[in-house]
Amino acid sequence: MKKIVIAIDGPAASGKSTTARLVAERLGYLHIDTGAMYRAITWKVLEEKIPLDAVDRIQKLAEKTHIRLERSPRGNTVYLDDKDVSDAIRLPNVTKSVSHISSYQVVRDVMVREQRRMAKEGGVVLEGRDIGTVVLPNAELKIYMVADVAERARRRKKELEHAGVGVDEHALIEEIQERDRRDSTRTVSPLKKAHDAMELDTSKLTVDEQVEFIVRRAEELVKGTKTK
Ligand code: C5P
Repeated sequence: MKKIVIAIDGPAASGKSTTARLVAERLGYLHIDTGAMYRAITWKVLEEKIPLDAVDRIQKLAEKTHIRLERSPRGNTVYLDDKDVSDAIRLPNVTKSVSHISSYQVVRDVMVREQRRMAKEGGVVLEGRDIGTVVLPNAELKIYMVADVAERARRRKKELEHAGVGVDEHALIEEIQERDRRDSTRTVSPLKKAHDAMELDTSKLTVDEQVEFIVRRAEELVKGTKTK
């Protein structure tokens, strides 16, 4: 059976990770959370107390750091030089600084090389900001996920509370908007919808509906009953 590449992009907290994980599970594909890779390198920058504008030091760090994603029931388990940083990279200090680090071309070069290597064989669902536009412009199926910012904040709050982190919903809305602003206005690989991506507004959809939408399109492509 032919295995395709699925690219899922979209703004912060639009439901990409959960959807990508479940789509990958349904199709027997590998799920690659590229945001987790940018978060991991950001965590390391903070851990080593490197100033956020020390781009040369950050480049060296990115080049020598080994980030590995492994499948787990919750999504990707993220290893940084064999240390499990899956929980640490979701904490607010990392979230606050990640858009800064991800705006550096030198960091993106390292991450994108690795992402393309992982996607080489097909049978992958990659999610991020620039997958359909830059990382894998030839992906067979491109989805651009969007949702109301209030709904995104509500979902993220629930997720954080589940992890034992209490947050104010208004502060969360501001953080999401600021991150989207940074991610979509940066000069290198900004967040934007690829011209050939299908937009999926998840504001009023259940997770099952989102997953079903993408799986159905993927199956049509694999069977050759639908062209891009
Ligand atoms: O997807 P997530 O919200 O975990 O991504 C964290 C951050 O990583 C984003 O806000 C963005 O700055 C960066 N990112 C990126 N390109 C990707 C994935 C994530 O710049 N492909």
